[in-house]
Amino acid sequence: MQIPPFSLDAQISEIGVEIEEALIRVFRSGKYIGGEEVNSFEKAFASVIQTTYSVSCNSGTDALILALRALDIGEDDEVITSSFSFFATAEAITSVGARPIFVDIDPENYLMDLSLIEKAITPSTKAILPVHLFGHPLDMDKVMEIAKNHKLKVIEDCAQAVGADWGGKPVGSYGDIGCFSFFPTKNLGAAGDGGAITTDDCELAKTIRELAIHGMPKRYLHTNIGYNSRLDSLQAAILNVKLLRLNKWIEQRKEIANHYINKLSVIEAIRLPSNNLINNFGHSWNQFVIRIMDNSFVKNIKFTPGLDIDNENRDLFKTELERLGVNTIIYYPIPIHLQPAYKELGYKEGSLPVTETVCNQVISLPIFPELESIQQSYVINTIKEIFRK
Ligand SMILES: *Cc1c(COP(=O)(O)O)cnc(C)c1O
Repeated sequence: MQIPPFSLDAQISEIGVEIEEALIRVFRSGKYIGGEEVNSFEKAFASVIQTTYSVSCNSGTDALILALRALDIGEDDEVITSSFSFFATAEAITSVGARPIFVDIDPENYLMDLSLIEKAITPSTKAILPVHLFGHPLDMDKVMEIAKNHKLKVIEDCAQAVGADWGGKPVGSYGDIGCFSFFPTKNLGAAGDGGAITTDDCELAKTIRELAIHGMPKRYLHTNIGYNSRLDSLQAAILNVKLLRLNKWIEQRKEIANHYINKLSVIEAIRLPSNNLINNFGHSWNQFVIRIMDNSFVKNIKFTPGLDIDNENRDLFKTELERLGVNTIIYYPIPIHLQPAYKELGYKEGSLPVTETVCNQVISLPIFPELESIQQSYVINTIKEIFRK
């Protein structure tokens, strides 16, 4: 059996016809920028995230850049964030001229360690940019309390967490601005790039809308140097169809996650994701990430293709899984602070020990709504086989 890490065309049988109809409708309308599909998507999305406003744009990266710009964050400003994220989180901060300040992560949930935020605040700090990585929400009550005490802005990176909630309230509704991505592999994926911001602040929504269209509040009047960052009408039409299924798809992800957790908890060498134990948050399971804690499985591998088994346990495990048909992805093998592009920030190996250790141990198991239970069982049994005593 071959199991892919994710499958984007698996949804075609469920929504293919509806999507085709929507696309033809837009194509025949002759309105390819803005229009009804974009407006109705923004309205529906704001209502899902429980904010007053949503403004769509071209990508999650652009959503972050637009949010930072709207909050007037730039040159000489510092933004506190996590190094254990997709590169775009920090890239957005740098591209507006500000400096990312990375705090280490909590080894339980892989999110920013809340106890380290206050120590990282300086007179230059303007904002906290939490990342709800893999769909696991950060404790937003805590983040908002710290931000309030220090008069900082909060921009939530919700790219992987559409549909996740903290205490019953959706992520993206806590901070000044929430940033979302509709990249195809996210829980709500377009057939291409797309993104959106959410906010309750009318002025911020207005500023972001203008910045996203060349800083142009009125046709050919430019009050700001902005961007060309819009959600295509065709992508909006696809997202309108998919948004109606989002809750159901997240429920399906939850079932898969619970299945994995129930069956894999017997393996001591695997650290499972922290689950909804205290029942005050909703994980949206964009990724199911485990950690390989030791090399107790090595004795069971027949075929070891020239890998260094002493410090490459995770990579060896991944290779063996692949040989047996289970294909996985590593999110993320190199933390942002150790990326060559960020050499000048001055971080070194050892700067963020928990982040660095976790990056060497994580591996994401296949998870997508259409993953059948026979496939889930194959993943589970294959892992059990590799770890058999
Ligand atoms: C995907 C992602 C982004 C960027 O979104 P794009 O739509 O690909 O630009 C930002 N942050 C995180 C955590 C992401 O996973």
